[in-house]
Amino acid sequence: MRRKLALLAGLLPLWLSAASRDLRIYWIDAEGGAATLIVTPAGESLLVDTANRTADDRDAQRIMTAVREAGLQQIDILLTTHFHGDHIGAMPALAKLIPIRRYMDHGESVEIARPNVAAAYKAYVELSAGKRTILKAGDRIPLKGVEVVTVISNGEPITKALKGGGAKNPGCAAFEAHGPERDPDNDMSVGFRLKFGKFRFLDLGDLTWNYEQKLVCPQNLIGKVDVYQTTHHGLDRSNSPQLVWAIAPKVAVMNNGPRKGGPASVFETLRKSPGLVDIWQGHLAMGTSKETNTAEAMIANLGPTAECKGHLLTLTVTPEGKYTMTNGRTGFSQQYESR
Ligand SMILES: [Zn+2]
Ligand SMILES: [Zn+2]
Repeated sequence: MRRKLALLAGLLPLWLSAASRDLRIYWIDAEGGAATLIVTPAGESLLVDTANRTADDRDAQRIMTAVREAGLQQIDILLTTHFHGDHIGAMPALAKLIPIRRYMDHGESVEIARPNVAAAYKAYVELSAGKRTILKAGDRIPLKGVEVVTVISNGEPITKALKGGGAKNPGCAAFEAHGPERDPDNDMSVGFRLKFGKFRFLDLGDLTWNYEQKLVCPQNLIGKVDVYQTTHHGLDRSNSPQLVWAIAPKVAVMNNGPRKGGPASVFETLRKSPGLVDIWQGHLAMGTSKETNTAEAMIANLGPTAECKGHLLTLTVTPEGKYTMTNGRTGFSQQYESR
């Protein structure tokens, strides 16, 4: 039956297959870059970041694989969390492959004095001319059928708790600040919470430790979530216990690369988080022991970059709040219930 339906779907025009009753999220493996594609039940799309630039346009092609799987003809909104190469690198190549209708971001890069950043930012300004919106904390990202709220942008967090948030965070007394961030545009990252029925998803880009704290101390302004895209590729410059244990995800999805993200300390923070059920990874973290990584069944890509096929992790969420993670490498899937 399934097979028949899949065959039938192959015959339908692409615009028809974009509509579904479910929300879908695709994590594109970008070897330590970021690109997360969100497709609403109405078939509208929000692409969050465009990963790296490589000579062979690898990441633009990998994004297009997800775009085709989702049956999209355009990207409705491209949200760039911040202006680092692993988040905007593939944008010019992607813009040649598919129309991008609107661009959203935090405002000018704070690293504009760095020549490579200045060049990438200039390309962004040109591409987004007349289609650009600068987001402030509290702004809604306009998609029908889902609620997507900016919780932080340009270093400024929301000042009032989201519905379901507002609890005092007992972890804050133990918070130890880090030194200043060496790549400060990370701190300017746009972060958002998406809500679809009961289901909640959090993506904070590469927001770092001291800025995460603005969202959860002394009060947890976000509340709890179902799925958390581990911040900053699962690096320990982010993902403080104060944040993770307050938002208390059931499922963490790490968009790490073979050599970026996923140190043992972050796995420890995640595993100690109240109510955490599973960790999924875009890639095996090769500098961390196999036992510390999550189970192989929940890792989309295992080999080094040169041999990597860039398998997807996908999430589907029903309007009733059941959600399923699937490993594109094996088809292995796991179902969860929104809290
Ligand atoms: Zn990054
Ligand atoms: Zn960054």
